[in-house]
Amino acid sequence: TKASPVVVSGVLETGEEQFYSDVILNGEKYFAYFMPIPSQNGEEIFGMYAIYRLASDVHALVLHSVLPVILLCLLATIVIGLISIRYYQKIVGHLQQIQRFMRALSGGKFDVELSPQVLALEDELGDLAKSGQSMQRSLRLLVEYDALTGLYNRRLGDRKLKRAAKRAADYGMDYCVGICDIDFFKKVNDTYGHEAGDAVLKDVARVLKRNMTGKQLTVARWGGEEFLLLFENCKLPAAYKVLQQIHDQIHQTTVEHEGQTIRVTMSMGLVQADRNASEDAMLAAADALLYDCKEHGRDQIQVKDMSGK
Ligand code: GH3
Ligand code: MG
Ligand code: MG
Repeated sequence: TKASPVVVSGVLETGEEQFYSDVILNGEKYFAYFMPIPSQNGEEIFGMYAIYRLASDVHALVLHSVLPVILLCLLATIVIGLISIRYYQKIVGHLQQIQRFMRALSGGKFDVELSPQVLALEDELGDLAKSGQSMQRSLRLLVEYDALTGLYNRRLGDRKLKRAAKRAADYGMDYCVGICDIDFFKKVNDTYGHEAGDAVLKDVARVLKRNMTGKQLTVARWGGEEFLLLFENCKLPAAYKVLQQIHDQIHQTTVEHEGQTIRVTMSMGLVQADRNASEDAMLAAADALLYDCKEHGRDQIQVKDMSGK
């Protein structure tokens, strides 16, 4: 065969071995390895050995043996990729849920809930969700409850009252508002001491809580010895009945404190709300009734139907 000029100059003239991937021979492309043949004294190169293989054969062989491996790797990569994306989306979804929960908490919305799936996770995200939930409980206790009596505090009482007024305006729901106040409470403090006063507040709160059960009835500590009673979906006669029970039970309650027996009475104002009036106007009306009780001998209940029916 006649070597191409590239091979001649690359092997014959330099005396070095060479590998070519595109040697043309008889019009066809070859992979070829050339070795120079030196003369006996090694001073001249007088020929070359060559090993040829048709380029098309080599390509076919490569395709045949390497392509399946490449395809397999590609498939494995796609499968692993898909699994990773799904796993990633799941984690991101859980993280976003926890983030929304935390945001709601920091915005003062304590009614948010985490899904049972997130809470059931047994990894770090599950731990984070459970910590968030216990933080919610602690915050709720601090922000919504009165520390001394365990009743809702004014903030929550006010929120529930506003909600009731809105429901009344929007859907025509009936509701009643009561304000109760312990009579001569200052005297209790002055006579028996502040701690005794606290014990009385706790016992009165217990009586209120016992009678104001269920979702529709709310009792909150409104001020020092003053309590808000809210009756949702309720008309005056039913609310009045509950108030009478409370009034009677307060009469029967004796508070034992350091060997002393203390008794208190309460004055109460109760209104059935006007659906179209503001909650503040209803509170003021109940307060005016309470004031009237105080003016007329205390230890009594005064009621007024403001619903206009
Ligand atoms: P009235 O019958 O007109 O309501 O008279 P009162 O003495 O009950 O009302 P007043 O407003 O004169 O006094 C309320 C007292 O309640 C004064 C305040 O020191 C006391 N008080 C408020 N909060 C607490 C509390 O958390 N613990 C105790 N022990 N006393 C409290
Ligand atoms: Mg009082
Ligand atoms: Mg008072």
